[in-house]
Amino acid sequence: MPSTRFPKKLFAGLALCLAALSSAAAADKLHWQYSGDQGPEHWAGMQPDYALCGRGQRQSPIDITSASINQTAKPLQFDYRSAPASIVNDGHTVRVRIAKGSQLTIGTEHLSLQQFHFHTPGGDRLQGEEFPLAMHFLHKSRSGQLVSLVLMFRQGAENKAMAGLLPQMPARSDKAEHKLPAIDPAQWLPAERGYYSYAGSLTAPPCTEGVLWLVLKQPLQLSSAQLASLHQLFPDNARPVQPLHGRSVSEGR
Ligand SMILES: [Zn+2]
Repeated sequence: MPSTRFPKKLFAGLALCLAALSSAAAADKLHWQYSGDQGPEHWAGMQPDYALCGRGQRQSPIDITSASINQTAKPLQFDYRSAPASIVNDGHTVRVRIAKGSQLTIGTEHLSLQQFHFHTPGGDRLQGEEFPLAMHFLHKSRSGQLVSLVLMFRQGAENKAMAGLLPQMPARSDKAEHKLPAIDPAQWLPAERGYYSYAGSLTAPPCTEGVLWLVLKQPLQLSSAQLASLHQLFPDNARPVQPLHGRSVSEGR
C-alpha cells in the first residue's frame, strides 16, 4: 500500500461505513442531499458524526494538478472476473454489488472488489477538468483498508459496457436489490492503467477519512444519450472538490 496505514478502530469504522453504503440500512440517513438546504455545505452541521465533512483535512474529491504530484506509486494489477451481482437505485446513485472473486493488487496488498456506483458529474478533477461522469469501484483489503478506484468519462462514443448495464438499472429509487446475471467488471477498464493516488475520504456523510483513492488517468467515453439516461435515474450527485490541506499525490504507471 503506497502511503497510508490506519489504526484498527478506524478499520472497523470504515468497514461499517462500507456496509452502510451498500445496504438498505443507509435509508435511515437519507436526509442529506447533494444540493439545497441539505447539500454538502450543510452536512457537517446535520449531526455530530458528520463533523468530518466540515473539519476533515483529508477529504474527497480533489482537483489533481501537476503541482501536487510528487511521489511514485506502484503499478496496479487487475484480476477482475465475471461474478453474480445485484443492482439497486437508492435515490443517490445506482450501485452494483458484486460477489467475491475480483481482485486489485497494489504491490503486495490484495484488495477485494465490493461494489461500483456512478456519480454525475465526476467529482475528482484532473488539471481542473470536470468530467460529466465517474464510476467509483470500492475495494477492501483483509485488514479493512478501503480503496476507491475512479474511472472518468468524457462525452463521445457510446460505451459498450454501459449499453449492457443501462437497461438493467432500476428506474425507481425504491432501494430494492435486483439480481443481475453474472457481470464482468473488467469490461469497464481502459487499456491504459496509469493512475494518480491520494489519501482521502468517503464523499458522502459521514465523510470518513482513511480511504485510499486511485484515479485512472485515461478517461472512457459515453454518448450524450447514455448520459441523459443516467440523469433520469438519479439527480446530480457529486460533492464539490475539497481543499488539499498539504496532501501530495502519487503517480503510478
Ligand atoms: Zn462514490
